Amino acid sequence: MSHLIIGTAGHVDHGKTTLIRALTGINTDRLKEEQERGMSIELGFAHFHLPSGRVAGIVDVPGHERFVKNMLAGAAGMDVVLLVIAADEGIMPQTREHLDILQLLEAKKGIVVLTKADLVDEEWLELVQEDVRTQLAGTFLKDAPIVPVSAPTGKGLKELSLTIDAVCAETPARDASAAFRLPVDRSFIIEGFGAVVTGTAIAGRVHVGETVDILPQQIEARVRHIEVHGKEVEVAEAGQRVALNLSGVSRSEVQRGDVVAARGSMQPTKVIDVKLRLLPNAKLPLKDGGQTRLYLGTAEYLPYTFLLEKREMKPGETGYVQFRFDAPMVCARGDRFVIRSYSPMFTIGGGIVLEPHARKHRRFHAETIRELKALEAASDVLATAETVLQRAGTAGVTANALRQSLATTPEATAQILRELERQNLVRLGGGATPYLHRAVYDDLCQQIVGALDNFHRTNPLRQGMPREQLRAALPKDLHAANFDTLLGALQAAQQVIAERDIVRRAGFVVTFTDEQQHIADRLERTYRDGGFSPPDIRDVLPQFGPQRELANAIFYSLVDTGKLVRVADLVFHESVIERAKRVVTDYIRQHGKMTVAEFRNLTDSSRKYAVPLLEYFDKIGFTRRVGDERVLREQRE
Ligand code: GDP
Ligand code: MG
Repeated sequence: MSHLIIGTAGHVDHGKTTLIRALTGINTDRLKEEQERGMSIELGFAHFHLPSGRVAGIVDVPGHERFVKNMLAGAAGMDVVLLVIAADEGIMPQTREHLDILQLLEAKKGIVVLTKADLVDEEWLELVQEDVRTQLAGTFLKDAPIVPVSAPTGKGLKELSLTIDAVCAETPARDASAAFRLPVDRSFIIEGFGAVVTGTAIAGRVHVGETVDILPQQIEARVRHIEVHGKEVEVAEAGQRVALNLSGVSRSEVQRGDVVAARGSMQPTKVIDVKLRLLPNAKLPLKDGGQTRLYLGTAEYLPYTFLLEKREMKPGETGYVQFRFDAPMVCARGDRFVIRSYSPMFTIGGGIVLEPHARKHRRFHAETIRELKALEAASDVLATAETVLQRAGTAGVTANALRQSLATTPEATAQILRELERQNLVRLGGGATPYLHRAVYDDLCQQIVGALDNFHRTNPLRQGMPREQLRAALPKDLHAANFDTLLGALQAAQQVIAERDIVRRAGFVVTFTDEQQHIADRLERTYRDGGFSPPDIRDVLPQFGPQRELANAIFYSLVDTGKLVRVADLVFHESVIERAKRVVTDYIRQHGKMTVAEFRNLTDSSRKYAVPLLEYFDKIGFTRRVGDERVLREQRE
């Protein structure tokens, strides 16, 4: 049977802690100060044997308005809520605030418990029930059972247990196949045992001996022991209250708000995109650029708010918002959160994380809003993954980043990618190479073809576009391996031809007019005659007088075709390169090796030409440098 957490909520002194003790025999007010003051300050924990035999974890929250922060840390992990209302007082301010918080966190199931039924008469009890029913209209508790109880007399407790059992039976299980995640609510040291952290496992499972990440500080730790409901176990699962004894960390390195997660499953972030809803009773509009208190998991953060859709959000409104954090935080797509005003502190709204690793967007930007809408609408993990790929644009997403983006397991990620590939929604990617969405891929193909067409139009004498220039014309974030694969695919599709670092459209050929051919011949002759000491093109061009521009273009064309060869800053005629290779081959065959001085003498040139030429030969794998000498690379003619 799946595991779940029952949590309390409600105004201070309405009998939450008393109720839990009556049900379980456990006093959740474990701090001395709590016992002295008779008031809960911190979260309290217990476990409850339901009549069906099922064991549920219990989180008891403080009701006092000063400790809403602690209540928030407990609320995130609740599956079934017991909204506790004292029959003699009815709904009070923190009853409402807790209800608001649970609504914002999208709590699904709950029971209203009318405590202190012994303090009121039947008639009053009826009235309170009616009032409560009216006030809960429109909330997740609108159809919830209302059960009156009395702790001192025990009245209603049995019925409550049965009701809890029934509601738990209808509550969907948490996803144990997802990557393990446990927001830490306590950490302490047990002498001779080391650091222990506790929390509600909200996803996945964890095994003894496993290495986990502590986030956002990214510390690796090993799980030495696991305890659930006071018993040592080998595996803990989503929906359980868990204590983990960790090695590799000290207590001061882990605290409430941190997250223990499956190794490599999550990446800290400093910018997130969310859908935010302001409560109708929020006292002020949400201002752009201000700081707010954000509660997610067991953590409290102080991000800056950037409204993406409109310049101001009024109470009751919803909108897309970006939060930017001073320090790394950790969250997953789909996480719910609550915000409170910075000072004075009121719960003002909450929402859902749409993008845990957001870019700093342009604001009030239609395209960004469209993307966020798509993320919000994505109904399942495949649709979400597709939207993530689409949003990543030309940078793409690696399998690992996708896994972190979805906070899932490597196996699940591989399956998602296979399915997207099957649906032809993913093109390219694999290993550390980013996957690209099909639409992005198609667009890149068009960009390449477009860039080449454009190049040919403006440079009709060039054989094609230098590969690096083409690369630079494409988005900077395109991964080198994806650029290569794209070119290969376009070549296979006979759209482009890539040769000698020059890329052209298939079918494109340079045709020289007689005049141009004449210039080409003259340039070739100049460089052939230049031999091993060729001229600088800047000195050659003036000889062409008014045709110098054209000669310049034809010069590049000859470099493209390989008639002229670039060697560092120099240019040699192709026949001269061949001649130099023969000289080198013959000499080394006779003497075993060759120095720069020997080569210089043989070619009757100077160091200025001899050194770059030999270095070029090393680079193309023709010769190899050994100390100050050159030898031939094996079997090279
Ligand atoms: P919490 O702040 O909601 O946790 O409230 P507590 O459980 O600490 O209870 C506050 C006070 O109400 C205590 O003095 C309890 O003894 C009292 N109390 C709780 N439940 C009942 C009840 O059913 N009947 C009566 N008469 N008193 C109750
Ligand atoms: Mg209490």
